[in-house]
Amino acid sequence: MSESPDHLIDDRMIISLRGNKNPVDPKIPYGWLIEKELTRSGKIEETGIIFLTNRECAFHCLMCDLWKNTTDYTIAVGDIPRQIEWALEHMPGVKQLKLYNSGSFFDKRAIPEEDYQKIASLLKSFETVIVESHPRLINEKCLKFRDMLEPELQVSIGLETVNPDILKKLNKQMSIEDFASAVSFLSEQKIASRAFILLRPPWLNEEDGVFWAERSIEFAFKAGVECCTVIPVRAGNGAMDFLMENGEFSPPDIHSLEIVLEYGIGLKKGRVFADTWDLGLFSKCPKCLEMRIARLSDMNLTQEMVPPVNCSCIS
Ligand code: SF4
Ligand SMILES: [Zn+2]
Repeated sequence: MSESPDHLIDDRMIISLRGNKNPVDPKIPYGWLIEKELTRSGKIEETGIIFLTNRECAFHCLMCDLWKNTTDYTIAVGDIPRQIEWALEHMPGVKQLKLYNSGSFFDKRAIPEEDYQKIASLLKSFETVIVESHPRLINEKCLKFRDMLEPELQVSIGLETVNPDILKKLNKQMSIEDFASAVSFLSEQKIASRAFILLRPPWLNEEDGVFWAERSIEFAFKAGVECCTVIPVRAGNGAMDFLMENGEFSPPDIHSLEIVLEYGIGLKKGRVFADTWDLGLFSKCPKCLEMRIARLSDMNLTQEMVPPVNCSCIS
C-alpha cells in the first residue's frame, strides 16, 4: 500500500471526517455487559464491563471510534458514581469489573477526582477493577485511586503498534518508550497492566499486519504487562473509511487474528486475548466464520491451542 503524507494525519483531518455523535445521558452508562474471562489465577470468571458516559478523550487517534458515545463537556461530580451504581444493579455476583470510559480514567476532565472515593466505596465487593488510560496520563493519580480501592487495580494501556512510523501516524501522541515507562511505573507500584494491540493498522498489508502485531505483543510483555488483547482494526469512524476508500487501509482477515493469537499464547509470557467483537467484519467466508469465532473464544478462555478450522477458503 502507498504511504500517506504525514501532514494529512492530524486532529483537524481526523475530526473533519467524523459523523455525528450518538445521543448520551450523563446519568447512565452508554453500555454494559458481562463476559467470561480467564483471570490471572487461572479461573474463568464472569467479568462485568461498564461503558461510562463522559467527556470525549483529549487525544484523537486515527483508528478510534470511542468519541461516538461521549459528551463535549465535563460531566457533573456524582454522575460517574451514579452510572456505576446503575450498572451494578444489573451484574450481581460479578467479581471482576472493567470500567471503560472511552478515554483515560485518570483524565480529570473525564472522571472528576472528587468522585474517586465514592467510586471506590461502590467497588468494595470486587476482586479486580480494570480501568484504561493513555500512557501519558499514568502518574500519582493512579496511586491515589489505588490506595482508596479494596479490589486489586489493573490498568489497560493502548500500545497499538511498535511500528514507529505507523504509531506516529496513528496520532496517539505517544512513543513506545512512553508505553514502556508507564508500564514500568505501574509495575514498581505492583499495579498490573494490560496492553491493547492493533492487528493491521493502515498502511500495512496482511502479512505485515500479522508481523507487527506479533512484535507488539513481544514488546508489551518485555515491558512488563501481564496480558495483551489483540484488536482487529475496523473502519466506521470516518477517518478509517476515508483511508479505506483511498486504498490505504483494509481490515484484517479473521484468519490473521487466529495466527496472532496462536503466536501470543505460544509465547507463554502471559494471557493473550483476541477481541471477538463483531468478527463478521473480518471474514468473507460464511462457511467457517462461526467455527473460527468459536475457536478464538475457546483459545481466549483456555489459553491453549485449539485445532485449526479446515475450510476451502484457506489453502
Ligand atoms: S487515547 Fe484511546 S480513547 Fe483516546 S482517542 Fe486514542 S484510542 Fe481513543
Ligand atoms: Zn472458510
